Amino acid sequence: MSVQKHTVVIIGGGTAGISVAAGLRRKQPNLDIAIVDPAESHYYQPAWTLVGGGEYNAADTRRSLKGLIPQNATHLAKAVSAFIPEENQIELADGQRVGYDFLVVAAGIQLNWGAIKGLPEALGKNGVTSNYRYDLAPYTWELVKSFKGGNAVFTQPVGAIKCAGAPQKAMYLSAQHWRDSGIKADTIQFRNGGAVLFSVPFYAKALARIVDSYGAKAYLGDALIEIRADEKIAVFERVKDGEKVQEEVAYDLLHVVPPQSAPDVIRNSTLANAEGWVDVNKNTLRHVRYNNIFSLGDCSSLPTSKTAAAVKAQAPILVKNLLSALQGQETIASYSGYTACPVTTSHGKVMLAEFKYDGKVATTLPIDSRTPRKFYWWLKRSFLPWFYWNLLLKGHYVPELAKDRNFPESLPSPIEA
Ligand SMILES: Cc1cc2nc3c(=O)[nH]c(=O)nc-3n(C[C@H](O)[C@H](O)[C@H](O)COP(=O)(O)OP(=O)(O)OC[C@H]3O[C@@H](n4cnc5c(N)ncnc54)[C@H](O)[C@@H]3O)c2cc1C
Repeated sequence: MSVQKHTVVIIGGGTAGISVAAGLRRKQPNLDIAIVDPAESHYYQPAWTLVGGGEYNAADTRRSLKGLIPQNATHLAKAVSAFIPEENQIELADGQRVGYDFLVVAAGIQLNWGAIKGLPEALGKNGVTSNYRYDLAPYTWELVKSFKGGNAVFTQPVGAIKCAGAPQKAMYLSAQHWRDSGIKADTIQFRNGGAVLFSVPFYAKALARIVDSYGAKAYLGDALIEIRADEKIAVFERVKDGEKVQEEVAYDLLHVVPPQSAPDVIRNSTLANAEGWVDVNKNTLRHVRYNNIFSLGDCSSLPTSKTAAAVKAQAPILVKNLLSALQGQETIASYSGYTACPVTTSHGKVMLAEFKYDGKVATTLPIDSRTPRKFYWWLKRSFLPWFYWNLLLKGHYVPELAKDRNFPESLPSPIEA
């Protein structure tokens, strides 16, 4: 059987795949690139939180994937079903094989809706929603607008998720809307399966203050395990004194963020590390065992927060290193771990959490970014979507401007949303 082959094959036409393809194309216009992705649409996911807050049109977050594939790159509109790195090949869902000289794996993260009993059936009706789905983010805003009081519950699962601030953003935008509309919730609860509110303590302390300012309560180590939609009951599990205990929580509005993992096709391959992510060097983005494989974005093992902002910093490094490797040279560009999470603390203000590996605070501007600011809201709401479609996805990279900073640990004042 003859196998089609390309110099560079990119798995995934999301944020990472398209920005790398465009960057490679820009540097080397004749490079033979194929992008493998069965999706019809490409989404600007960072705006889904704004859609759920009534601040953005869902339709404006969606574009045809075909229209974003760089000129002259081949689009193979099929899913990858297996990796065969020993033969420098991948297998597609129809059994066809595709060969490569270099492979870039950018298949994103897998949303495991079925891991919570009753969740798939409950979603999209009777008060259960999620900003993690394009079709459901508008329903979040419908629920927020029609909320008349009762218990509003916002969840976050255990483990890595994309945009770890997004579960909280949904709560802040909702809570502010109710406060401004004179609607008194009985309770606003943030129930997080993880042990901390945010992975970087510097920002976590500030976010705890925002939670308090809305009269909300944060529960840590409290994982959603079941929804009984007919009774409007959510079941949470936590470990207390070494024992697992469950609590039934009545809800009127339930915003769920599902458990997430590396895609099964990666987890079940020899590309994966013990946790299932593509096992790459955290600085060069090159695979630790297969020299001609690179990875970035949500499916990679890079030990930083999974965001489009991180992809923005990773893509130019990967492009540089892959082009060096193509010439048989050393991979010398190094990724710092930079990532950013613009937390919408209210309608009109954002706290911009920016950091590098090991939670090292590194901000673009020399100001304490824990203070929610209108300027950051403008960045999030207006500038970044423009930047995404017109620069990042076209391979126009901007230099990394964030610098390590030492701000006082004490919270800036005022910090309330
Ligand atoms: C609600 C929400 C809010 C967010 N907020 C922010 C924010 O404020 N700031 C920020 O920077 N980031 C934010 N993010 C995160 C950001 O969107 C992701 O980190 C980013 O899109 C990751 O890019 P990626 O290319 O790795 O994955 P994706 O963009 O998800 O792309 C993965 C691609 O791989 C394809 N694929 C999957 N499996 C296969 C397969 N087997 N074969 C072929 N193709 C496959 C998919 O179809 C998809 O096109 C948010 C995300 C969500 C959901």
